[in-house]
Formats: sequence, C-alpha cells, structure tokens
Amino acid sequence: MPDLHLEKAHCQELTHPALLPKGCEAAVLRLDLLHPIVSGNKWFKLRYYIEQALQQQKKRIITFGGAWSNHLLATAYACKQFGLGSAALVRGERPTVLSQTLQQVDSMGMKLFFLSREDYRQKKIPEQLVTDSDYLIDEGGVGELGVQGAATLLDSVEMQRYSHIICAAGTGTTLAGIISAAPQTCSIIGIPVLNDLGTIEQTLHWYVHNKSAKWQLLPNYAWGGYAKHPPALLSFMNAFYEQTKIPTDIVYTSKLFYACLHLVENNFFDPGSRLLIIHSGGVQGNRSLPAATFCFT
Ligand SMILES: *Cc1c(COP(=O)(O)O)cnc(C)c1O
Repeated sequence: MPDLHLEKAHCQELTHPALLPKGCEAAVLRLDLLHPIVSGNKWFKLRYYIEQALQQQKKRIITFGGAWSNHLLATAYACKQFGLGSAALVRGERPTVLSQTLQQVDSMGMKLFFLSREDYRQKKIPEQLVTDSDYLIDEGGVGELGVQGAATLLDSVEMQRYSHIICAAGTGTTLAGIISAAPQTCSIIGIPVLNDLGTIEQTLHWYVHNKSAKWQLLPNYAWGGYAKHPPALLSFMNAFYEQTKIPTDIVYTSKLFYACLHLVENNFFDPGSRLLIIHSGGVQGNRSLPAATFCFT
C-alpha cells in the first residue's frame, strides 16, 4: 500500500463558549494539519486509486480539476512521490497567468490541458491524450475506491465518543466514505457546498451499501453555490479564526463550520450531543483572493 507518511490527524476540542451555548460538545478532526501540501481529505480519496495504478504498472495518472483544485494538488504531489507521471484536464481556457495552485502542480511535473467549460462539463478528453499506460481518476475521486479510501480518514478517531459526524459535501465521496465507516449509533450530516444536490445524492445512492445508516443532507448552507463566497462568509471566517485559531477555506470548510454553529444556535442538536466536525483542509484555495482578505494564512 503506497503511503505518504502524513501526520496522524488529531481531534481538537472546540471550547469557545460563544460557539457552544447549548450543552453540546464538539471536536474538530484537523485533517488540514496532515501535511503542508496534501492537506485534508484528498489523499484518502486517492490512495486506493494510486495503489491500483501502481499494481497495474501504469505510468501516468490523468484527472480533472479547476484552477484552485485541492484534488489536482494532492494528485500531483502523490504522483511525484510514487514515481508516476501526472496530467490534468483543467476547467476553462488557459489564462495568461496560471493560478498559484496550477503553477505549483506544474512545478511538480503535472502536464496541464485546458478544456472549455462546455467540454469540461462533458468530460471530453482530448483525442490521443490517453494511452494504455495511463490511469484515469474521475473528478473529485468519485468511485468505489475513492469512497473506500475516504472511509479510512476516520481510522484514527474513537468514533463511539460521538453522536454526530458532520462534513462538507462536494461530490459526496467523502461523505459516502464516512457513512460507510461510522458506527450505527452515529448520525452523519452532510453540508452541501453547491446548489445541485443531484450529484451528491447519486454518489450516496451508488456507494453507500449500508442501507440502515443514519444520514442526512442539510442543503441551506451553500451561500449561493459552489465557490461563491459573499463578504459575510469571509467575515465569518475571520471571526471564527479569531475565536478558535482554526483557518477555514472559502469553498468547503467555512460553509461547514458556519452551518455547525447555526445548527447549534437553533437547537438542532439535543443537549448532550457530541459532534465531530471534519476539517477537510483546502485552505490553500484561499490564495485565489488577496492575502489581506484574511487574518490568517
Ligand atoms: C474536495 C473537498 C471536499 C469535498 O469532498 P467530496 O468528497 O467531493 O464531497 C471537502 N472539503 C475540502 C477542503 C475539499 O477539498
């Protein structure tokens, strides 16, 4: 099994009284601290794909992502570590100046191919790009192996301590892994970060095999859609950092933590609940905004 030797994720208690007014306790699984480059949930979703690619003696991984993609960054880094080539199909026309994330993956040897938004949506792979020695990973690592890998992000957690596990959902792959791994006593809550729940529901339908698991999606925390980050969300991120010293990202974890606090405030959880909030990383994506936007990096 290929191993990136990441730090072991630890759970940090959320103790700020203003955050937990109603007799609940909460801890944050700090996957953002696992590694300076490959933070969060992305390595977990990749690990079994990389293992299979190596077993099948593939030479290169090809995958998809946007200009600030955490998935491309983790893929480029992992491929370099394991001696695989990497290529990315990037959403949108090639810009005159590459985003910092794309510069970083480029410097790790990832080859970039830009697709128009329409071609990207249809996942139109340029002809002759893919050969027999290439291994394709779907956008966001969606698929059986991605879900199995995501399930391992709970390996270091004493799960019976928690009544609820809450995570952000993009494709829903991570959520599906968590639902598969969590004990029956645990309720799982997904916070969609985009308006179209269809993909997430489909992922859960296909890849959650344990039909008696307790889970739900709470769809009111997308802030207008994927990667939308109104000023009020940015203010929340700074205030949350001041109170907890936990940095969040504009696409996923800010919306997750906002949702958690809003739910606690509105008595969503019974007194005595113990929440585990999954900090799935991704803070590097904040570089898409001016550094002065945030009181943290
Ligand atoms: C990709 C990502 C997610 C969403 O993961 P899915 O498995 O696609 O639902 C959540 N948080 C962060 C920081 C991510 O980069």
